[in-house]
Amino acid sequence: MLPTVLFPRWIIPVAPRGDVLTGHALVIEGATIREIMPAEQARIAYAQASQISLPDHAVMPGFVNLHAHSAMSLLRGLADDLALMDWLNHHIWPAEKVHVSDEFVYDGTSLAMAEMIRGGTTTVNDMYFHHEAVARAAIHAGMRTVIGASILEFPTSYASNADDYIGKALAARDRFLGEPLVQVALAPHAPYTVADSTFEKVVTLAEKLAALVHCHIHETASEVSDSLTTHGMRPLARLHRLGVLGPNLIAAHVVHANDEEIALLAAQGVHIAHNPASNLKLASGIARIADMRKAGINVGIGTDGAASNNALDMMADTRLAALLAKGTSGDPTALPAAEALEAATLGGARALGLADRMGTLEVGKQADMVAVDLGDIDIQPIFDPISHLIYAAQRQQVSDVWIAGRAVLRGRQLTTLNEGQLKSKAHWWQARIAGGARS
Ligand SMILES: [Zn+2]
Repeated sequence: MLPTVLFPRWIIPVAPRGDVLTGHALVIEGATIREIMPAEQARIAYAQASQISLPDHAVMPGFVNLHAHSAMSLLRGLADDLALMDWLNHHIWPAEKVHVSDEFVYDGTSLAMAEMIRGGTTTVNDMYFHHEAVARAAIHAGMRTVIGASILEFPTSYASNADDYIGKALAARDRFLGEPLVQVALAPHAPYTVADSTFEKVVTLAEKLAALVHCHIHETASEVSDSLTTHGMRPLARLHRLGVLGPNLIAAHVVHANDEEIALLAAQGVHIAHNPASNLKLASGIARIADMRKAGINVGIGTDGAASNNALDMMADTRLAALLAKGTSGDPTALPAAEALEAATLGGARALGLADRMGTLEVGKQADMVAVDLGDIDIQPIFDPISHLIYAAQRQQVSDVWIAGRAVLRGRQLTTLNEGQLKSKAHWWQARIAGGARS
């Protein structure tokens, strides 16, 4: 296959941090970035190749959505303005019990991937059930996906108990081993839904299989106080005692952490998935991202599911993260634009153990990248495109997306997914879910 050469106005490689290249071209060959070179040389060296002109565009690495429940897109806006446990116990879990199936997960995940691709996300760290359906949707969409295989104590439509969930996680892991875009992680749901003995099994398996572990931790203040009553210790202390904390752990949320816990997370090399919009909407609080980063913790950005956000918009949530870091720390220099962009791309790649393959635009890495059209009048002038990507641009300005070198969005049009079909599926599910809620 002939290489494809992009001629954007700006290339933002993310490493080195804050770097902006002008007058350069980027050459994609197969799944990887073959060269980044002066545009004039590229025009001659690649005269025969397919050339794409992006005159008003910034090309950057794709966003890594570090915490999502993709299939929940079908529950977007079903129940809003509620506290986490009320929302889960009385709305989300009952709806999931009735409706979640292979078909629901395939359709919901496909819908989410359409939204994420259109917003510039190239990798998602998912957590849900029906792993084969997630994998099929990811492979069809061409989206890089870490499938977090949920593990809980209580039964759902998918599995009956913790051992059943673990068995299904391991089966999915075996099934998709060697699949280039998909890998399976172990996802014990949260300290309040998973027993000590199950966490111990997860730790043993994760070590044996070199698997990632993805878990909701310290999302709400009541999670922490309930744990003090039930276990006589805070969840992070309990997880530390059980051996869960380590560099293979992606801790979603960690909204409530004291100084000792931040030091512990840093010492253990735990990665944080910061979900600022979901945490605000459920009134869970605001994670201490500025302090965590100061302590040396790697922080990535996530959207959480569309039932608690309600958009899978990494650009908006990265902006929110940058603003909240300043507002809560009283320090306007906290999480500057280049660092926010790094967290939303390379930070996520590091957390997933994929930083050697993606997260930046570097020769030899996977061509997971996004072109953002900064030509709109709303955002002129442009002194610094990185500033605009964080503080001024909208996801609608993402024009093109490549994942492993494959164009999955061209000129705002999805190439792997059919928008009309996805819309009718979403409406079909809406009617069914609304009907179920009334009965
Ligand atoms: Zn979540």
